[in-house]
Amino acid sequence: MEYVIHGREPADALRFFEEISAIPRASRNEAGIAAYMKKFAEDRGLWVHVDENNNVVIKKPGSPGCEHLPPVMLQGHLDIVPEKNQDTVHDWEKDGLKLQVKGDILTATGTTLGCDDGYALSYMLAVLDRKDLRHPPLECVMTAMEEVGLIGAMKIDPSLITARRMIGMDAGGEGGFLASSAGGNYVFVRVPFHYVEGRGDGLSIRIRGLDGGHSGGLIHMEKGNSNKILGRILYNVSKECLFNIAAITGGFKGNAIPREADCVIMVQNGMAGRAREIIAATEQEIARELAFSDKNLKVLVDTASADKMLNLEASRKIVHLSHVLPNGVMMRSMAIEGLTNASLNVGVVTMEEGCVKYEITVRSAEDSLVRSIAEVVADIAETAGAEVEITGTYPAFSFDPDSQMRRIAMEVYQAQSGKEGKVKAVHGGTEAGVFRGLLPGLDIVGIGPNSGGAHTPEEWVDLCSYERAFNLLLGILDRLCDEQ
Ligand SMILES: [Zn+2]
Repeated sequence: MEYVIHGREPADALRFFEEISAIPRASRNEAGIAAYMKKFAEDRGLWVHVDENNNVVIKKPGSPGCEHLPPVMLQGHLDIVPEKNQDTVHDWEKDGLKLQVKGDILTATGTTLGCDDGYALSYMLAVLDRKDLRHPPLECVMTAMEEVGLIGAMKIDPSLITARRMIGMDAGGEGGFLASSAGGNYVFVRVPFHYVEGRGDGLSIRIRGLDGGHSGGLIHMEKGNSNKILGRILYNVSKECLFNIAAITGGFKGNAIPREADCVIMVQNGMAGRAREIIAATEQEIARELAFSDKNLKVLVDTASADKMLNLEASRKIVHLSHVLPNGVMMRSMAIEGLTNASLNVGVVTMEEGCVKYEITVRSAEDSLVRSIAEVVADIAETAGAEVEITGTYPAFSFDPDSQMRRIAMEVYQAQSGKEGKVKAVHGGTEAGVFRGLLPGLDIVGIGPNSGGAHTPEEWVDLCSYERAFNLLLGILDRLCDEQ
């Protein structure tokens, strides 16, 4: 094969990066890359296991004199997000990536680069391949289907892993040390209804103009939630006007802050004019509240008609729930600056056969808070006469102030770079959380090079940073041989 990266270190890791980039490895298509890993290990006489989900575990004994030390797990995922530019011709089943170097920056032409998480794979391959390194026994865990819900990690057999300390490599940002990620679950709330004949004066209410954003990464930015804004408007109208809901929807994805919501109400007793006044007044007060966080709120009101509408009892329950369901940041971290410790997002409202359904995403760095917040939602919803389902729970990587792995990693970083490292955390799910759940007491630190644009065709990595982050990994492995 023809390599495009020349004259750079670590040459072996970069060669492996190019080799794995030639193998298609979009999520759920990991058989090829798993076979490559298996052959790599067998060629070198290393212990290897590939499971039915294409998760790969490769083990290497400690270097001479370090064989007896407790093992350390190195971890990353095999799959990549298959995004490409509209005009790029690329078959994700067959084609390899076309890498290109510009200055110090590595990208792929028109597609994701898969540095998320190819850097981890290439580092592991180089460490497994080299014979001159000093390191404890290594357990390299390469997972499938990370990008589609941490599926491989959740299905891995934990008895394959004996290590109780881990270097996670799915967290870009040199000098940042991942110390926490969120666990979470999904709460579905269903309000049953039946239709009655439509009557009254119809009004359509549409919430528009909000910024939205990822409900993990951006929940602390106090963006308006269209479902909650609609709930407040409906509640205010209900104080003076009797109405039935004819239709209600909002948001598209549980993990996105909803930007839009739509509703049709049928106002009784000739009160539609008053309802409009209340909607306009509520819009004004919310717009003022959001002036510094989400400044383009628009509430559009029009006349509408509907030949059927939800029964009054169900309409009242929906107004009540849309109004009272908790939403947004529930707790900030006092350990890590800027981190949200717990939040929830009333992400989607849809109408299903005979019920209105709310989809609420709960996240927290503490498993107990995930459970508690979901139960608060359940308690509120059940008291209001709705049905509740809590599902899709995934574990948190909670902050450990005494993590030995993080201390060592940050000390090695400081010794190598002369700079102070930063403790980093994310308010989203990671495989680190899954492994913490599978392997109780697992001590984890996450490291990686400077990169950006993950999950887009603009994805890039800085090759100078790639080299430094690799040297950091080697430095940590070396230090682990001294520190027992
Ligand atoms: Zn990743």
